Amino acid sequence: MTNHDPVVQVAGAEELARDLVVIPNRRVELVPNIGVIGGTRAVLVVETGLGPANAEAVLAFAAEFARGRELYLTTTHFHPEHAFGAEVFAGRATYLVNQAQADDLAAKGPGYLGMFRGLGDGVARRLEGVSLAQPDVVYADAYDLDLGGRVVHLRATGRAHSKGDQVVTVPDAGMMFTGDLVEAGQFAIFPWFPPHDTDVSGVRWITVMERLAAQAPRVVVPGHGDVGGPELLAATGDYLRLLRDETWRRRDSAMPEETIVAEVRAAMLARHPDWAGQDWIEKGVGCLCAEHP
Ligand SMILES: [Zn+2]
Repeated sequence: MTNHDPVVQVAGAEELARDLVVIPNRRVELVPNIGVIGGTRAVLVVETGLGPANAEAVLAFAAEFARGRELYLTTTHFHPEHAFGAEVFAGRATYLVNQAQADDLAAKGPGYLGMFRGLGDGVARRLEGVSLAQPDVVYADAYDLDLGGRVVHLRATGRAHSKGDQVVTVPDAGMMFTGDLVEAGQFAIFPWFPPHDTDVSGVRWITVMERLAAQAPRVVVPGHGDVGGPELLAATGDYLRLLRDETWRRRDSAMPEETIVAEVRAAMLARHPDWAGQDWIEKGVGCLCAEHP
């Protein structure tokens, strides 16, 4: 991890629908999947990549794609690889987010900047010169963005992976951008860092996943990992419910937390031997222990 450089490769952009491309993360850690969604009037960018240089590359790509159309930017939540490049878009794009996400960024952005700088030299270099952006438009729970012949739905989901999660859907293309509410090929990321950050809620996350699955999108763009279909929503929901049930069953019998962690981790690895991000299992168990009724 020390020298890992989370670089966004805009050259890998793939057209997944008419006038809609995804810059895939190619399973590179701390690189998000990034969307560029066009209408006749305007173009919306979803996620910035980590730090100003990545965001410059995304902005240049989007401007080329837009060919004079107006630019908008949104981010699925405030975490650094998703949103800590937004200031590069200032004056070039209208930055639009939900209120809870704006609040999350203001409250926890500086702390996450420090934490991420400690992850290694490559990440720290990406964050050099970063400043936290001010959104241009802040909405409460729902915003319909008309790009011209295509309306994109921005929806705050309520607290789950973070306090300010937002999902972006493109109804005419059957597409959903989930941010870190869904990952492909890896364990769900629980940013459970007591006492600094305990906003993630496994219980509420399960409820959110049920609502997203009910929308039945055809294409799901996860926060990280390969683009897929509704099976990604099902897999995340199934995993979260299993994690909750296995954790709570042991908590009911007053088992010490370290034993719960060891046993649940073994059970989850047996279920998903090919998934990355194994360290997030322990964080998830910690969160769900705290949410045990
Ligand atoms: Zn995240």
